[in-house]
Amino acid sequence: MKPLIERVILNSDSDVEYPFQGDPYVPTRTENPYHIAVDPFPGYAHNYEQVIEEAHHVESRFPVGINVFYHCLMHEMVWRSNGAADLTGNEGWVALSGKRIPIHPAITRSLVAHEYGHIVYRFIHRRAGQDFINQYLSIRQIDYFDSLRPRSWHMNFEEIAVNDFRILVCGRESEYWPHNCPHPFEVIELRDFWKKLKRNHGG
Ligand SMILES: [Zn+2]
Repeated sequence: MKPLIERVILNSDSDVEYPFQGDPYVPTRTENPYHIAVDPFPGYAHNYEQVIEEAHHVESRFPVGINVFYHCLMHEMVWRSNGAADLTGNEGWVALSGKRIPIHPAITRSLVAHEYGHIVYRFIHRRAGQDFINQYLSIRQIDYFDSLRPRSWHMNFEEIAVNDFRILVCGRESEYWPHNCPHPFEVIELRDFWKKLKRNHGG
């Protein structure tokens, strides 16, 4: 695996590509680059040193053994979310959106753990398939919901699981629980479930 210093990237203005049609974008460093669509307004990026520290923390809590590239963008993503993440081939990318005002360090702590959680979730899902989701739903006693309609993000199952990961596995910003199902501290079996997932899938 490449060291974190090569995988955490502070993107500058010169990394923005301007196609004739469509939004400007920043390509990820993955072998198969994903185009992160951005607003060209100059913004502030997440603090680079803090992102390295947090990436080190979350990867040590649940190593997946693949190269994950973290992009600290100096521009805001057109999705208007704080970040995004995905697997591509045998690599992963995390986008940390820039903002028009400087970013509070608690957001960086919460966001790096959350976005890395998407990498972990998809990595487990790829290996364990639907069983993983079925077991998870039965422990949490909720129904599967995967739509991202306006004001329904908080009901999205993957977002709930990823915030469980942020709090239970990474120990980050536990007071931030924007969902209407119980806080992970209140779901007794959940901590052991994540321990088991780490034993089976964490490298
Ligand atoms: Zn998310």
